[in-house]
Amino acid sequence: MLFLDVDGVLNRTGFHPGESVGLRSWIEPELARRLCQVLRLTEAELVLASDWRRDRELQHLQEELRAAGIDCLLLDTTPVLGQARWREIEAWRADHEVAVEDMAIVDDGYDMGPLAARFVRVSPLNGLDEEAARAIVALFGQPPQ
Ligand SMILES: [Mg+2]
Repeated sequence: MLFLDVDGVLNRTGFHPGESVGLRSWIEPELARRLCQVLRLTEAELVLASDWRRDRELQHLQEELRAAGIDCLLLDTTPVLGQARWREIEAWRADHEVAVEDMAIVDDGYDMGPLAARFVRVSPLNGLDEEAARAIVALFGQPPQ
């Protein structure tokens, strides 16, 4: 299970699409490709933890990710509890009885509380770069590529 943030992960600070045709425009193709590689290598499923999930249907989010080249199953979104993001991730994890060892979080935030060991922080200046991609793959116990 990979808990995904979008802003600062799939787009970088200062990124602005030439033309905005919905959420899909705000995902940078290079970063989308890198996420797809990670998902292929780890066979992790995606749960969206980003603010993008607020007031949006899962199917719409799935379509926007697909349109941005992220052709994988978006399993779910974390609940909106009005709490720290890690608490919302933890609530989803506990509800679905996913072992901590079987999850990772990628985000440009800082505080992941007790989930820190499963957290790959990216800089919003770089987004999901090679180093972060390798770190996620390593968390899932796959050899680095
Ligand atoms: Mg972010």
